[in-house]
Amino acid sequence: LMRQDLWRLLGIVLLSVLIGLLTGHTALALAAGLFFFSIRQYLAQAELLAWLKRRADTGRPARAGLVDELCREIQQLRNHYRARNALLAGYLKRFQRATTAIPDAVIILGRFGEIEWANRKAGQYMGICWPQDNGLRLLNLVRDPALADYLGLGPETRIDALQLDAPANAGIQLEIRVSPYGAARKLLVARDVTGISRNNQMRKDFIANASHELRTPLTVIAGYLESFADDELCPGEWRAHIAQMRGQTDRMQSLIADLLQLSSLEAGAGDDIKEAVAAPEMLAMICDEIKKTAAYRDHIITIKADPGLYFNGDPRLIYSAFSNLIFNAVQYTQAEGRIEVEWREHAAGLCFSVRDNGLGIDAAHIPRLTERFYRIDKGRSRAQGGTGLGLAIVKHILVRYGATLQIESEPGQGSLFRCRFPETHAIRMDAPALPGGKVAVKEALIESEIPCGTGKCRQNL
Ligand code: ADP
Repeated sequence: LMRQDLWRLLGIVLLSVLIGLLTGHTALALAAGLFFFSIRQYLAQAELLAWLKRRADTGRPARAGLVDELCREIQQLRNHYRARNALLAGYLKRFQRATTAIPDAVIILGRFGEIEWANRKAGQYMGICWPQDNGLRLLNLVRDPALADYLGLGPETRIDALQLDAPANAGIQLEIRVSPYGAARKLLVARDVTGISRNNQMRKDFIANASHELRTPLTVIAGYLESFADDELCPGEWRAHIAQMRGQTDRMQSLIADLLQLSSLEAGAGDDIKEAVAAPEMLAMICDEIKKTAAYRDHIITIKADPGLYFNGDPRLIYSAFSNLIFNAVQYTQAEGRIEVEWREHAAGLCFSVRDNGLGIDAAHIPRLTERFYRIDKGRSRAQGGTGLGLAIVKHILVRYGATLQIESEPGQGSLFRCRFPETHAIRMDAPALPGGKVAVKEALIESEIPCGTGKCRQNL
């Protein structure tokens, strides 16, 4: 076809030259011929443009040559894009049908938290109407401080999921998750967890109520058993049975105390308490108390605590976490074993650690240690008065304070339990400053003298 145009041009040139030779005005005839050719090409292009602007398949310019070829190519491209559009429209329709079938609310948020897309459930749960709310900021439509905080957190600090009463329906409990994707976009998924949270609440209430109801009768039984044991009139053969019963009631009482503590932690107890807790003194007190228990078998306990470093939080919770970890170290370390307790400030925040050279823990057990009632050796733990709830309580308290628990252990060598708290929980109290602005670290050896009458002491003698 392009060749057709060239032949035509050549024909016009030859004809013009012939006419020029005959008339004696070759240049003029050639110029007129070329002018005629250009006009023809111009008109063809104008027709092409008009056809393109009409966006219609019919009425194609019927001129042979380059323009005709262009028309055909454009028509092919048009057909190709139409087929692709039809395909994409089919996909979109299927996607829209699928998103309306999703039982969760799905919202796509842009860089500034503006709504880019939402499905039908988003209206039912969050009150977002699509497409009317397109481009509006989600937080202008759902004014919830918890949601604002959650969306403001970066992916590395964001808690797993946020529980929220559905803004558009107070009877529905939602679990909201946000995942970043693409160029600063966020995908928000809200799931109805009303049934799950009702069951969870029933379970928590049941455990709390049952433990509470059992506490009083047990106290009465323990009281009577104590007076029987102290009674001189109590027959000698009964004494062993009474001692056994007392041991069991003690166990049940500590179990109930731990269950009640877990319940109150789950109910959010101590959330609002923020006191400057003298952690170094608290650690010394815990170790003194542990020395009075049966679990203490002349262990050598060392405390390295930064004396000016106080903890900002609930003293009862932090006492519980620290004492559970130190008590475990004593419980699961052979007599006269070494236990090192540390309380320091690091670049990454506050660090509390307990290291022992006791039984150690096989790696397979470590991930499950903080589960309720998970014990490596059930018989041994029970015999030593363990409830299997200590580390579950510790974990709950640490989660409350945004802290992490790290466990390193080697069977037969010992264990290290390390808690890292965010810097926000640090309170710096006046402490003797060392040259260079450093703060003195008190190294108090609680059991500085090995008590006489123990194996170690006797060995020295
Ligand atoms: P328990 O009341 O049985 O001590 P915990 O929840 O406190 O319950 O601990 C769970 C289990 O973890 C314990 O039964 C024990 O087997 C193991 N454990 C905890 N601390 C230590 C430790 N310092 N050394 C060895 N094992 C430990």
